[in-house]
Amino acid sequence: MKLVVRVKLPTPVQAAALEATLHACNQAATWAAEVAFEENARRPLELRKHTYAEIRARWQLGAQAAQHAIKKTCDAYTTLKANLRNGRYGRPGSRRHIRAAGKPIVFRPQAAQPYDDRMLSWQHQARTVSIWSMAGRLKGVAFTGQAGQLEVLAAHRRGESDLVCQGGKWFLIATCEIAEAAPNTHPVGFLGVDLGIVNIAVTSDGARHCGRRVNRKRERDRKLRSKLQKKQTKSAKRRAKRHAGKEARRNKDINHKIIKRIVAEAERTGRGIALETLTGIRERARLRKPQRTTLHSWPFAQLGSFIAYKAKKAGVPVVYVDPAYTSQECSQCHHTERGNRPAQAVFSCRVCGFVEHADYNASHNIAHRGWYVWVCGAQSTAPELTLIA
Ligand SMILES: [Zn+2]
Repeated sequence: MKLVVRVKLPTPVQAAALEATLHACNQAATWAAEVAFEENARRPLELRKHTYAEIRARWQLGAQAAQHAIKKTCDAYTTLKANLRNGRYGRPGSRRHIRAAGKPIVFRPQAAQPYDDRMLSWQHQARTVSIWSMAGRLKGVAFTGQAGQLEVLAAHRRGESDLVCQGGKWFLIATCEIAEAAPNTHPVGFLGVDLGIVNIAVTSDGARHCGRRVNRKRERDRKLRSKLQKKQTKSAKRRAKRHAGKEARRNKDINHKIIKRIVAEAERTGRGIALETLTGIRERARLRKPQRTTLHSWPFAQLGSFIAYKAKKAGVPVVYVDPAYTSQECSQCHHTERGNRPAQAVFSCRVCGFVEHADYNASHNIAHRGWYVWVCGAQSTAPELTLIA
């Protein structure tokens, strides 16, 4: 499976050369995107015919860099097409849709540029890279990263890396190919996991990964954020930015810890993991106003993709179930009605009288449905994904 490792190039002396390189590559890609738009040539082979020679001549790019600029353009159009189809820009005919589809793609001057092994080589012992630039080959460019990640990098790096400049800092984002455990093809059952707001994750074993402390902290964060936004001074903006990074890191760390425990439990007991399909969780959840802000800032998607990734690595099968009525269905007699849930935290069946914590009841339903999905053969396995560790 693929994993992404990010290393930092701490203030390289050659930063000017790298910057010039990114600018040239992105200018060339933006120009190629215009040609692709006008000529309707959005496949690499076709677009190469129209643009390769001129990119080499006009921007003085090397053969590899020119190829990558063209491929990057084509990839961007493919992504745009998929997003348009999936409704990310609203309905066809809507203003956003027309705006997105009706003009060529433009690359930021500092957008990421892919590097292959001929343009970039790694010296893991010395912790340096040798990298192609407009000013020739730059040798001995130092990089740093977390010890664990550098080990992964040295052992498993494969294929392309991206050079990117974020907030004035330089990074290389390298792709690693990691072996995964043999998949468990005969799970004895499924561990249902209900992802939520009040409780971040509740499993059908009854483990409740509570978010009370986190939510309280996030509420404070939100207040601070809006206070800083109102101020609009330079220092307030700086502080807000620093704070946002901190909050994201803390959320990520909490997610990692929760998921580690859930996946380990499923692996230990020979079970798979059942999750609700996450798309539309925001649309589905009807909440009182104060909870709404909490919901919209909680990284559900991150939680879901972390589970898929960690489970895959451990060989634990993951199935996604239809989320309809999981919170209103009785996990004992399967009677479903809205009245079964008199309060946010309480489930109380109107027919058989079964009473349980609402999220725990829902996680049971998810586990049932997971097993059903599995035996019906409609196995949805964890999607292929990459993750910035
Ligand atoms: Zn019941």
